Amino acid sequence: MTQANGPKFDNSYRRLPDRFFSAQMPTPVKAPALIRINRGLAEQLGISVAWLESEDGLQVLAGNRLAAGSDPIATVYAGHQFGGWNPRLGDGRAVLLGEVLDAEGRRYDIQLKGAGRTPYARGGDGRSPLGPVLREYIVSEAMAQLGVPTSRSLAAVTTGESVMRERPLPGGILTRVASSHIRIGTFQYFAGQGDLEAIRTLADHVIQRHYPATAGAARPYVALLEAVFDRQAKLIAQWQQLGFIHGVMNTDNMLVSGETIDYGPCAFIDNYQPDTVFSSIDVNGRYAFANQPGIAQWNLAWLARALLPLLDEDQDAAVKAAQQALDGFVRSYEAAYGELMRRKLGLNQHDAESEKLASTLLTLMADSEADYTLTFRRLAEVAATPPAEPETAGEGGASDSVASLYQLPESFGSWLEQWRERLERDGRDPVEVSRGMLAINPAFIPRNHLVEEVIRAAVDSGDLEPFHRLVDRLGQPYRYDAADARLASPPRPEQVVANTFCGT
Ligand code: AMP
Ligand code: MG
Repeated sequence: MTQANGPKFDNSYRRLPDRFFSAQMPTPVKAPALIRINRGLAEQLGISVAWLESEDGLQVLAGNRLAAGSDPIATVYAGHQFGGWNPRLGDGRAVLLGEVLDAEGRRYDIQLKGAGRTPYARGGDGRSPLGPVLREYIVSEAMAQLGVPTSRSLAAVTTGESVMRERPLPGGILTRVASSHIRIGTFQYFAGQGDLEAIRTLADHVIQRHYPATAGAARPYVALLEAVFDRQAKLIAQWQQLGFIHGVMNTDNMLVSGETIDYGPCAFIDNYQPDTVFSSIDVNGRYAFANQPGIAQWNLAWLARALLPLLDEDQDAAVKAAQQALDGFVRSYEAAYGELMRRKLGLNQHDAESEKLASTLLTLMADSEADYTLTFRRLAEVAATPPAEPETAGEGGASDSVASLYQLPESFGSWLEQWRERLERDGRDPVEVSRGMLAINPAFIPRNHLVEEVIRAAVDSGDLEPFHRLVDRLGQPYRYDAADARLASPPRPEQVVANTFCGT
């Protein structure tokens, strides 16, 4: 243990009963090297960038050395994976170094993912290849910049060791930051053990840590359930409006804090198809894009079931409270999604007409295989131009227009008329409308073919430049720059990545 300028830890989860975790040191690696430090996040967390970039910082990020105050553990949880119950999962290759508080007093977990085997590793090697580390870094940081609640990436390192998958691959470790790593599956683990005392302890911890306002409610655990559901509803609405597919929405991959976690075979939709599936192991399409809200509700029902004994002394009343909370999830999701879609379309308010415009547009997009992201981006641009010449804006290569990359399909004609009629009735200044739409409809998303390209350069040639360039570009997703047109373009047919392997 060394250094004075490392993180200041305060490890609240470590103070919970012993059966919540195992004390677990990271397993050292041979020859670590730094890939990237997330400076903005480090500053937010009050962790010195200079220290992170130092030799001491590198050794901590690689799991070779412990920072002062770090008391590492692996946490236990259970979960439903692709619908099947697994009573004991846990952090098989992740080690929680501890928790830090930012300047505002917000608490964050600092976790090393790929730090070696733990008691929960089962058959796994406890390691992570470089590819999935880069993917998680890119996509989680893009999500953060897009305003989606998510785990973050503080750093990525290579280990100097290889990891055996279909072939030997360079190993990596991601330093993951989240406001906690407590999952639906954490509650399910104790429910599976019939350990009511642990469920209560965990619920109290979650209330104090994430939902302090519910502590004073008449029925705090019902209020907790409703609050978790509400955050999840808003989170999934964000995924849907962005065209994000998580890929592995198992109950152990859903945090009660309402942050996105576990970027495995995830991807953003290119051309809009609601049945799009990305994970190669999701053979039944359980986690297809359009299924995500329903799957979230199914997962949350398991949280409700785990909490049932706490909801009310009378079991019928408890079931009723859980059912009402689940109904609340659907209402909350629909309200959040409807609100986001009306903003994407530049409309004044969410109403039956805005819903109809959004759903008709999606149908047209599916029929014409339109690019989801660029359709909305282009609509944001044409909102500022007179209806007579909707497709001319940006022609001649205006550097802030995606027109040279993408034109709206001809089949949108009558929809465009209806949309313009509504905009006219709304009566707002078109330039103002356009500006609002440009601020919610990104030009740059981490397109799957780009992520794959970046990973290939890193893994096959040790070239990390494309990775850095992509991460930098995704730092400003709403500001289009024609110099980076390639990074905004949909894949050409030969670039399309059909699915992403789960072999992380
Ligand atoms: P995931 O699919 O990443 O959500 O992981 C599901 C479960 O498998 C979790 O309990 C992980 O900790 C565990 N796991 C995944 N990969 C490995 C690995 N390489 N070694 C040990 N455990 C792993
Ligand atoms: Mg997981």
